[in-house]
Amino acid sequence: MTARIIDGKAIAAQLRGKVAGEVARLKQAHDLTPGIAVVLVGTNPASEVYVRTKSKAVAEAGMRAIDRKLPETTTEADLLTEVARLNADPAVHGILVQLPLPKQIDSQKVIATIDPAKDVDGFHPVNVGKLASGLPALVPCTPLGCVVLAKTVHPSLAGMDAVVIGRSNIVGKPVAQLLLAENATVTVTHSKTRDLPTVARRADLLVAAIGKPEMVRGDWIKPGATVIDVGINRMPGEGGKWRIVGDVAFGEAQKVAGALTPVPGGVGPMTIACLLLNIVRAVCMQHGLPGPKI
Ligand code: NAD
Repeated sequence: MTARIIDGKAIAAQLRGKVAGEVARLKQAHDLTPGIAVVLVGTNPASEVYVRTKSKAVAEAGMRAIDRKLPETTTEADLLTEVARLNADPAVHGILVQLPLPKQIDSQKVIATIDPAKDVDGFHPVNVGKLASGLPALVPCTPLGCVVLAKTVHPSLAGMDAVVIGRSNIVGKPVAQLLLAENATVTVTHSKTRDLPTVARRADLLVAAIGKPEMVRGDWIKPGATVIDVGINRMPGEGGKWRIVGDVAFGEAQKVAGALTPVPGGVGPMTIACLLLNIVRAVCMQHGLPGPKI
């Protein structure tokens, strides 16, 4: 068997097109231009790249990105004041504080200060609780992207055995909640799980969010299963360059799985597309408008 490759790039491009259409509709019908504040503290090179990519995608979708660059020495109190200012600004519909933050700042405190209605990352405890309670919420972008990709293969996930490897607050736990909301039978595994390959082999849908290069081998995968690889691992490549690999041994998985996301070009592009979707959802929720039908 050769797995069907789930083209995250193409699916993300399609979603971004739909979001841009929704943005145009909001402008035309409601005179609303979605705006997002992207807050970067310090000069972490990876964070700078992420922020630039997000701001560019926001602009391309016809929305307004308000960049707030703060120095590395910013105090927690100053950042909380900035977040409070953005909470109060009606032109700002979403607030994204790029993580990680410098060590003098407690990230959880900052996340908890963002207005939950503007929490387009879906990390605020109110949104986490709403997701767990099955209430409408802004949900984390990467997990949402995983579910959108899985649903391109299985329009209904109801009754499927889903195994999630990883239990982080950013990926593993929210992806498990979203799959539960889709009526999958969900098993969450982690570094203390016994005999992980056997548990993984039960999955009709396997989501790997571990951060360990190519840890999931071909013989961990049930023949015909759908595999969503969230991992982004930098490995030394040829000529002193870096190459990116996922948490799944792609070549082995391709021979066993029914469908599989590549790295890069799978979940990664979906994260940004789902962020854009979240901004539009936030605008609609804040203005009592029906959310986008996507
Ligand atoms: P994390 O380090 O916060 O969590 C990793 C999880 O994997 C933990 O819950 C841990 O229990 C589990 N784990 C670690 N070793 C294990 C083992 N040997 N066996 C079983 N489970 C084990 O990482 P994260 O933030 O959840 O990210 C996971 C991966 O996804 C990373 O590679 C990260 O770069 C990537 N990621 C990608 C995107 C994207 O946009 N595609 C977004 C976020 C994270």
